[in-house]
Amino acid sequence: MGKRQRKRNRERRSEIILFPDRHNPLLQITIATSTPAEMRQLCTSYWSFEQPGKWTYPARSLRLPSGQAANLVAARYCQTLALTLLCPVCKDPFSVSSRQELVTKAPWCPDRYPRTPEVLRNPCPECQQSVRDARLQEQQARQEAEEARRAQDARRAEEAAEHARRDEALIRSKVPGIFAEFDQYVSRSVPKGSMPAAEFLLLTAIFEACSVGSAPAMAELPLGWTGAPEADKGVLLALLNATAILPASDTPIESFRVDNVDGQPIVVLGQPDLIRWRVGSTRDRVRAYLHDLETTYAADPELVNDVAHEVRTMDTLLLMEYIDGTLAIRYDYPPVPEHRLYELASVLGQALAHGYTYGQVLAMCWGAIASAVAWRVRTPGVTDSQGSSAAVTNLVSRVDRVRMNRSSVPEYATPTWLDVPPAVKPARQALTRLSVRATPVQSSAGLPVDTLE
Ligand SMILES: [Zn+2]
Repeated sequence: MGKRQRKRNRERRSEIILFPDRHNPLLQITIATSTPAEMRQLCTSYWSFEQPGKWTYPARSLRLPSGQAANLVAARYCQTLALTLLCPVCKDPFSVSSRQELVTKAPWCPDRYPRTPEVLRNPCPECQQSVRDARLQEQQARQEAEEARRAQDARRAEEAAEHARRDEALIRSKVPGIFAEFDQYVSRSVPKGSMPAAEFLLLTAIFEACSVGSAPAMAELPLGWTGAPEADKGVLLALLNATAILPASDTPIESFRVDNVDGQPIVVLGQPDLIRWRVGSTRDRVRAYLHDLETTYAADPELVNDVAHEVRTMDTLLLMEYIDGTLAIRYDYPPVPEHRLYELASVLGQALAHGYTYGQVLAMCWGAIASAVAWRVRTPGVTDSQGSSAAVTNLVSRVDRVRMNRSSVPEYATPTWLDVPPAVKPARQALTRLSVRATPVQSSAGLPVDTLE
């Protein structure tokens, strides 16, 4: 039964009295007609007043003959509405049970008690309760949703774990067969055709790396095969697509995953960086193939140039590692600033292209760093980062000066702390072999034949 309905039912069997009078009522009291006369009388006296601020009878003078206090009787036998005090939510008049309660709602004095309906700041107890109920419901709903979500997450995690267990079992059962197929392929395959310089050099490096066991996975090589890991990944993929290389049998099981193809689960290589490598044919055939490739390359100046360019790129990247490493290890300086890296790579590439060996350019880098550090130490206000940047400036002028003066440059050895990517040495050796076998036309074309190791 709603609030209004209850009120109507109550009024039907009740007497309603308005105070101070029925023309300008401020309080309305409702007393059930079944209430004994002395109680009705006491309630009426209790709430009676002529104007706010003064009750007709002082509370302590009002008692039942039994001694019961009037406020208790009034609270029990009548409902009192403060007609001009409205709830901000339901807009109904406030219900009060005693004089004390009334004066907590509005100032009980003639000039301040509201004579016309006024909305109070706080909601009535019923509205407060419904706000609390709504909040409670909301909280419960949130809790339930949260629990449902957690249960769903747990279910999903369980499903995923079950899925992973099934996949792993499938992978473990299929992988030996996959490697057996590779073995069969390797024993039958005869490599043919040419390939770009980058692939040729990486295949050469992998061939040498797996003279014992298998060649390392990308994940094991912090600088990749050549110093440019991202580019290496593309070259490895091209070699794999050409079946020039294949996954070695000690490739970890984690690099495989299960794919669904037309609803059928099949085991595929899912983590290329974890794959260890072998060559895609027998070692004898690959050796012969690489020899034939070198013959093809040696006969074509453009191809030799391509190889020389690849080797210069590897040397350039290695020299950049050397410069940053020396700045950090010897001097505790930051690396060369990003905005100077392009310039640095250009000057290194040019020096190498002009015929200076890797060891000679290394010596020039060492000198450029040493004088940049000396400048930084004797110049006030220069930061370490500016010192690192000055090494590039020095190197540019040093390379220019050495070329102009045709001065002799010593050759420095690679320091032991510098990690040399595994393709660098075999690539330099391959270039040397090609340069020796190349026709004189290429030598006079400016290739740094006599300066290579
Ligand atoms: Zn209300």
